[in-house]
Amino acid sequence: MANVNIDWDNLSFAYQPVSKRYVANYKDGKWGKGALTEDATVTLNECAGILQYCQEVFEGLKAYKTKDGRVVTFRPDLNAERMIDSAKRLEMPPVSKEMFLEAVDQVVAANVDWIPPYESGGSLYLRPYLFATGPVIGVKPSDEYQFRLFATPVGSYFKNGIKPITICVSDFDRAAPHGTGHIKAGLNYAMSLHAYMTAHSNGFDENMFLDPATRTYVEETGGANFLFVTKDGTIVTPKSDSILPSITRRSLVHIAETLGYKVEQRPVKLAELTDFAECGLCGTAAVICPVGKVVDHGKEIAFPSGMKEMGPVLTKLYETLRGIQLGTAEAPAGWIREIK
Ligand SMILES: *Cc1c(COP(=O)(O)O)cnc(C)c1O
Repeated sequence: MANVNIDWDNLSFAYQPVSKRYVANYKDGKWGKGALTEDATVTLNECAGILQYCQEVFEGLKAYKTKDGRVVTFRPDLNAERMIDSAKRLEMPPVSKEMFLEAVDQVVAANVDWIPPYESGGSLYLRPYLFATGPVIGVKPSDEYQFRLFATPVGSYFKNGIKPITICVSDFDRAAPHGTGHIKAGLNYAMSLHAYMTAHSNGFDENMFLDPATRTYVEETGGANFLFVTKDGTIVTPKSDSILPSITRRSLVHIAETLGYKVEQRPVKLAELTDFAECGLCGTAAVICPVGKVVDHGKEIAFPSGMKEMGPVLTKLYETLRGIQLGTAEAPAGWIREIK
């Protein structure tokens, strides 16, 4: 067993290598058998497709310890399906859902000592990714690929309490119309870094990206989808072909409907923001991070939920989803995969 000596209550979101990771290689038109390894380094040819033309897709999910001591992952089948869609869009050979889930199960089981305890609010973050290893110099898809899945323990996202953030409307676009905004690829992040650093240097926590064609509709941030709540308690979430289909957002929508809220998934105009009572960002990292204020080139849109706490409707959704993940609330069928 690993010799783990971690201050669980002071873990941040930073990479820390753990004992074992999963590796499989694609060669001669097929995926080889995957296996666990202790080697955290990747050695690549200088002309590898990932280094030249950025052929890479990834996923992000977490393993948790539940209150009653079980080890679980949350809807990893949806991560597997999304990575298949992402890979196809970048002309990469997807790994099967079975191989993806086997990698999740094996890596979590091999690193159980690295999963933060239930009480800490932390989790074991899992990063599956697929990249081109074969050399390419003429522009074309690579012939060889590697699939890896590593794990790293991360602390509670809200260690210092749940505090609403302030975001700005970005002058940059995250995704082109008919581009790659709907897939989880490193290239979308490479091009959002400048926007992210610009927002930070102007004192904002995140960007609100608009639809690239007309810049009148709300899309998402660099790594999370939006959820809004109207003043009469309807949940509204932007619908667009260039936003990433967040598994957290889809799960929250399902929970909201089950709890009896009305949910609208439709294009959301920037001009509509003043109609909303609550705003949040949703993704695996935080589940929901409340947004207190949006600043659009000097014009401030402050949500009635304020800058002190998450609004009541988003809090209800947040607590329900956290409860499902941590085993204190009943999960819809198939949402929790227990690792034995
Ligand atoms: C990963 C990601 C999200 C969140 O998706 P989850 O499945 O909920 O973690 C949202 N937007 C972008 C751009 C992402 O890459």
